[in-house]
Amino acid sequence: MRKNCPAGAIDFNQKHQELVVEVTSIIIATGFSPLDPSVLPQYEYGRFQDVITSLQYERLMNAAGPTDGEMLDLQIKHAQKELHLFNASDPENRKVKDYCSQICCMYATKQAIVTKEHEPSIDVMAFYNDLNASGKGHEDLLKRAIEEYGIKYIKELPSEVLWNEKSRSKRRKILNQELRIGVNLYAIVVLI
Ligand code: SF4
Repeated sequence: MRKNCPAGAIDFNQKHQELVVEVTSIIIATGFSPLDPSVLPQYEYGRFQDVITSLQYERLMNAAGPTDGEMLDLQIKHAQKELHLFNASDPENRKVKDYCSQICCMYATKQAIVTKEHEPSIDVMAFYNDLNASGKGHEDLLKRAIEEYGIKYIKELPSEVLWNEKSRSKRRKILNQELRIGVNLYAIVVLI
């Protein structure tokens, strides 16, 4: 029987033990269930290659990821001018969940800031129904995202991601019914 995991990080033969240690902080990592994009068919995940989940985007931006953190290497390179973050797991989207996780707004903010630090020329917009910045330091981070990095927060999730029939290409438009956000071509859409 294997004694360690493949990375050698966990010893399967370890026994339960009680330890008394002095620490300054405790991090409780509860884990999470990733968003299932199939419950949001209006955003055409799986049809358009530049509609991706936040975990996929995380890999894309990671220096150890498939593109060495370089979005330029992807087929979606034309999409680099705009990044749209959809806080799609908001309670108003009850198909996803009916409570506020208190994390996705700040996760989107983190993704937006990392993107701007990576490539300042990208226009980043975060679409949301509700904005929860109630945690310690979150208001400050949000303020920095807006004032320092120029990230735009737009209240209301786009209703759909649509195929652009006219151009007969993989372009598409994002239509926000209320705000008339209009036609935004070549945007990467990240479902958070
Ligand atoms: S308010 Fe923000 S943190 Fe709460 S569920 Fe909506 S997007 Fe997530």
